[in-house]
Amino acid sequence: MSKELIERLYRDHYLTREELVALINHLDDEGKKLLFHYSLQTKIRHYGKKVFMRGLIEFSNYCKQDCLYCGIRASNKKVERYRLSINEILQCCNEGYRLGYRTFVLQSGEDFWYGEDKLISIVKKIKGMFPDTAVTLSIGERGKTVYQKLFEAGTDRFLLRHETASKSLYEKLHPTMDFKNRRTSLNTLKKIGYQVGAGFMVGLPGQTAEDLAEDLHFLKELSPDMIGIGPFIPHGETPLRDAVGGSLEDTLVMVALARLMIPEALLPATTALGTLDPNGREKAILAGANVVMPNLSPTKVRPLYELYENKICTGDEPAHCRGCIEQRITSTGMEVDLGRGDSIQFQKNNSKFA
Ligand code: SAH
Repeated sequence: MSKELIERLYRDHYLTREELVALINHLDDEGKKLLFHYSLQTKIRHYGKKVFMRGLIEFSNYCKQDCLYCGIRASNKKVERYRLSINEILQCCNEGYRLGYRTFVLQSGEDFWYGEDKLISIVKKIKGMFPDTAVTLSIGERGKTVYQKLFEAGTDRFLLRHETASKSLYEKLHPTMDFKNRRTSLNTLKKIGYQVGAGFMVGLPGQTAEDLAEDLHFLKELSPDMIGIGPFIPHGETPLRDAVGGSLEDTLVMVALARLMIPEALLPATTALGTLDPNGREKAILAGANVVMPNLSPTKVRPLYELYENKICTGDEPAHCRGCIEQRITSTGMEVDLGRGDSIQFQKNNSKFA
């Protein structure tokens, strides 16, 4: 039965929620092999052998939210908090540019110390100094006006994972946040014209196959340009310290299913997958992922941006990460692409690329 469902998904890029649940629940090793074969073929059909590199700058670990799973949640008083100055951020970009990166992803907790003026000035400076780069923000929820102004300042992309499409699970995990607002924010960002990234964690406590099928349907409907999928990994200083967490295999299956449901998406092989398994990112690439996000943050702050435990590469210099990841990509038979790497959907909709 799995084989029939996988083949239909490969052909139609669609299965109903019930079919996805059946597939997730009954996938055996042979089914997985077939699924990964088709998801890799689908990725190659749309993006060739390219895997895009993004330079990640974790610029602040202050956060006003209190997500139960996250190591930098507001209630964790054990984290030493830091903020990078505009100059430090620009230095990271400078080094990244020298290493060949043409996308910078600026990520932080929800830190309103960086108000709209500071953020606008950061984006304008980066775009002014490096006009051939794309700037991605991953800073959580802000109002429509701020999103609009940041777009006008030159921000190209915005990552805001929906985290889980289950309302009840979302509400349990995010005591300080609102389910509807997260989803509205994603739609707002899309309407403004950003390339938008959504995504979810796999293996959250209480998460069911039905919830995961709903995640895929939510993504199919939203049609984001980017989809971040990673395993939930417990952190000792959070209420979920004793939870089991997501597995490598389950996460790879979700990456492959996302590739088949939304074939044109940019799908990162996440650092969290590399943390679960030394070859987790390579395995994700072979299951249809086509983006990696090596770290460009200054080495001194890296251990402080600890969303989950044992996060990898916290002691490595940017030049080392750049080389290490390149080697990992080529080991899978794929090719590194250091260009801006805009999503196909965006290229189609944007006359600049016509
Ligand atoms: N504050 C920003 C950035 C969040 S951090 C925002 O709200 O979008 C980036 C992502 O890390 C989150 O979206 C979440 O999916 C993931 N994350 C956080 N804690 C995690 C954990 N314990 N295990 C795995 N992933 C985690």
